[in-house]
Order: sequence, then structure tokens, then C-alpha cells
Amino acid sequence: MTIFSKIIAGEIPSYKCAEDDRFYAFLDINPITKGHTLVVPKHEVDYFFDLSDEEMAAMMAFTKRVAAAIREAFPCRKVGMTVLGLEVNHAHIHLAPLQNEGDMDFWKEKKHFTPEEMADTAARILKAFR
Ligand code: AMP
Repeated sequence: MTIFSKIIAGEIPSYKCAEDDRFYAFLDINPITKGHTLVVPKHEVDYFFDLSDEEMAAMMAFTKRVAAAIREAFPCRKVGMTVLGLEVNHAHIHLAPLQNEGDMDFWKEKKHFTPEEMADTAARILKAFR
């Protein structure tokens, strides 16, 4: 069971941003920006590009809704999307509100927010999720 499956199962806490029957979105615990969110399929697959065409299409449709919620909660030029997956072997998409290209730099020192700020960030995205 991956750490993300444990999060989905509620065995490990997370700052939930959105959910439906197939996908789950929550704040990255080491954010590159305020509002940095991960989108994961509840079905456990390691490599993003091993997802079936149907599952990837459904994940993209869900991700669009999460990106819209992030942009509504945290006005930005655009929401950026990245797939890495080198650390956690459970397919996921990184979403982050962008004001400039450097906001999507994963090598930069990560941001630090209090648990209250993280909870507020997630609540704002969840509230905007349609
Ligand atoms: P990568 O697999 O390279 O896309 O990176 C995995 C991402 O998951 C990193 O940005 C981590 O900060 C994030 N991450 C790892 N564990 C957790 C967790 N328990 N809750 C939230 N985010 C996590």
C-alpha cells in the first residue's frame, strides 16, 4: 500500500482539497507555492503513463475542476501542472498557482506554513471545488 493509498483510506491525515468516487486531491506537505495540490487516482498505479486511456481522461477532467478551484481560491496568472513521481510510487499530478515560471521550481527551498494555514488553504480550495 502506498503512502497515498493510506491517505485516501484515512490512515494518514491530509489536507483534503477535493474528492469524488475515483480521485482525491490534497495539499502537498512540502509546498512549492501556497495552494500546491496533488491529484491522485484512488486506484493504485505507480507510473502516471501506465494509467489506462480512460482513467487518464477521467483524471484530467477531475484535475480541471481542481485547477479551477485553486484559481478561484488563490487568484493567479495560471495554474501549472507537473508530473514527477520519482518519490512516491503512486501516480499523481502536481498543481500549483503560478505568478511566474519560477513558482514551478521543485529545486527551490520549499515553503513553510503552519497547520492552521494549511487547513485554511485546503478549506478555501474545497469550498471553491464544483
Ligand atoms: P514526486 O513523487 O517526486 O512527484 O513527489 C512526491 C510529492 O509528494 C512531494 O512533493 C512530497 O512533498 C509529497 N508528499 C509526500 N508525502 C506526503 C504526504 N504524506 N502528504 C502530502 N504530500 C506528500
